Amino acid sequence: MQEVIVNQEDEKKLIQREYRKLLKTVRSKMDNTDKVNIRSAFEMAVQAHSKQRRKTGEPYILHPIEVARICVEEIGLGPTAVVAALLHDVVEDTEISLAEIDKMFGSRVAMIVDGLTKLDGLYNVESPQAENFKKVLSTLVQDVRVVLIKMADRLHNMRTLGAMPRHKQLKIAAETEYIYAPLAHRLGLYKIKTEYQDLCMKIREPETYKEIALKLQETKSERTRYINEFIKPLTESLNEIEFSYRITGRPKSLYSIWNKIKKKGVPFEEIYDLFAVRIIIDLPIKKEKETCWKVYSIVTDVHTPIPERLKDWITTPKSNGYESLHTTVIGPGGRYVEVQIRSERMDDIAERGFAAHWKYKTEGKQQNNQPDVYENWLDNVREILDNPVHDAIEFLNDFKTNLFNEEVYVYTPKGDMKVLPKGATALDFAFSIHSDVGYHCTAIKVNNRLVPMGYVLQNGDQLHITTSKNQRPNKGWLKMVITGKARSKIRSAMKEERRKQGELGKEALQRKLKNMKVDFEENVDFLVKHFDFISRPDLYFSISNDEINLQHFSKMFEVQVGKLVEIKKDQDEVKEVPLPSKKKKAVAGKSNLLINGEPAEKFDYSLAACCKPVQGDDVFGYTSATAGLKIHRSICPNATNLMANYGYRIMKAEWGSTTNSSFVADLKITGIDDGPGVIERLSRNISINLGLNIRSFYIDGHEGYFEGKVSLLVLNKDQLELAIRALKKLDGISTVSRIEQAEK
Ligand code: MN
Repeated sequence: MQEVIVNQEDEKKLIQREYRKLLKTVRSKMDNTDKVNIRSAFEMAVQAHSKQRRKTGEPYILHPIEVARICVEEIGLGPTAVVAALLHDVVEDTEISLAEIDKMFGSRVAMIVDGLTKLDGLYNVESPQAENFKKVLSTLVQDVRVVLIKMADRLHNMRTLGAMPRHKQLKIAAETEYIYAPLAHRLGLYKIKTEYQDLCMKIREPETYKEIALKLQETKSERTRYINEFIKPLTESLNEIEFSYRITGRPKSLYSIWNKIKKKGVPFEEIYDLFAVRIIIDLPIKKEKETCWKVYSIVTDVHTPIPERLKDWITTPKSNGYESLHTTVIGPGGRYVEVQIRSERMDDIAERGFAAHWKYKTEGKQQNNQPDVYENWLDNVREILDNPVHDAIEFLNDFKTNLFNEEVYVYTPKGDMKVLPKGATALDFAFSIHSDVGYHCTAIKVNNRLVPMGYVLQNGDQLHITTSKNQRPNKGWLKMVITGKARSKIRSAMKEERRKQGELGKEALQRKLKNMKVDFEENVDFLVKHFDFISRPDLYFSISNDEINLQHFSKMFEVQVGKLVEIKKDQDEVKEVPLPSKKKKAVAGKSNLLINGEPAEKFDYSLAACCKPVQGDDVFGYTSATAGLKIHRSICPNATNLMANYGYRIMKAEWGSTTNSSFVADLKITGIDDGPGVIERLSRNISINLGLNIRSFYIDGHEGYFEGKVSLLVLNKDQLELAIRALKKLDGISTVSRIEQAEK
């Protein structure tokens, strides 16, 4: 905890110092008008936030100043962004209105600040986070600075998250991982993305984070020595090229190392590509390609390349604008080393993506004559925004799958190329041709072979669609498409079906109300509200499929002066409460958990089947109307999605002191299958040596290798980790790891 500075003079000095630091970073880009504007924005913000403090105890104004500094120094934005960044929280948190900002700083700044202001009064919506994010994205197409400042804002909040309570940290980290990191990736803001991910990991897995950070630190000098050994034989030839160059050997991010450890199930020590060697050349655009290949040739003359690892993103840049030449070679001691070769300009784009691209563009610097990847992307964003789905969560999902992903290239029978997001299906393709082709699609052939509609497209596929007038979309189709266009078309077709069916419900309701001698128009909205629907059609539909039984109306409502009124009964009977009911329900293996500080027994809850928490795991509660209160592990892959979208449904959960309850935990075990006896050896060890109960055991072997899943009963995380360590030591066992999510 940082100590709160109480001395007002000291605080003023601190603010002035930080402000001067900011001015220094932007100085070279300012003219006189900019100077005046930045000064008045600063003064306005200081005044407006004067009564607020951050969770750290610091004066609030330090936050907007720091966000502005990140915008300039780490993203490369200019004076307008500084003004907007300084003001980014004033409309949301203080008395100042957008109109005042418009008057003082003009419509551009006002528009950006508006884009950064959270929507008001989002109490009745499913996911305020999703609604707000949708707003940010809508302004993104008008001015990209909105989203870049938002990135800086999030970065500073993540950097200073330590002062927040743990469950809030988890929620914010989840949101960052779910939305901000992929968006940063899509925008090519590689540095920011990496920092987001590392900070998220630090919050969710503090122990592992510290462990890997320490190991990286410990192995640093050994790494430097190795890189020098790797570079030495190259320098003579490199010095012969006519441009200056620099070589770096930076380790990969903690997050990506952690991912490798998890994915491959190997310890830190066995990860060979902890770092990549980067050769960056300072040269004019015209010479880039030729010189990069020359450097490639120099590197591979000395170190043997692995041909499959050659990636030429100079000839065909990645869809987020990334350009570079990658190869993996066998370095000294037989170690694989990734080498990245690029120009300074490419490096700038690789680190700062969209921001760099935008800078080059506004400064009028000519780029390669490559198609403008971001313009293309922005067009796609516009298309999704033009086709609005009412549900913000669905919008966000569409956005994620359509605009964060890489692409796949396929062809029509005539050979026209279509670009779809990676993961798109044959049915998506049908809808991309025309919505009518989608609606009436009955069969799809890929490369002359009949495939299911949900077939996932591969690069180079050629597709042929058969249609029939009688075909109609059904609900199952939603599971077979990922593109926003197909989803929204299917949804609206379903909605139309629903509306038609709802008409019957409406007529039935009209008859019923007529019977009860009340006016339809005057009472229908009361009923919509009473049954918790958003709109009239939803009510009609529920009546038409008997979810709401009109027969019960006379028991539920009475008529007072022409209006329906609810008949009050004993509290519990009236209506189902979506929040967890506080029922007493003792279940073995569940005690000793605190939910929002109260003993968990007070709630009707269960442990999530996807991630199977055991005592000692970092956990949280998630409550929903359909499934009740569920306890998940903080690292559960579902958790990110849940926390990012439905933050308000998260409940704090923590373990108290130890008890004797037991938990089921699933382990994945792989190893060498040296004939019969693997199962016996493992199960004997588990039950006799470790004294644990096995719930189930499944093993699958092929060609001398086996993979198994064991469900164990354990008391807590410590016991589970002890078991993992012991099993790892057994002969023939290669990896033992806890399963994070049950496979579907
Ligand atoms: Mn902020």
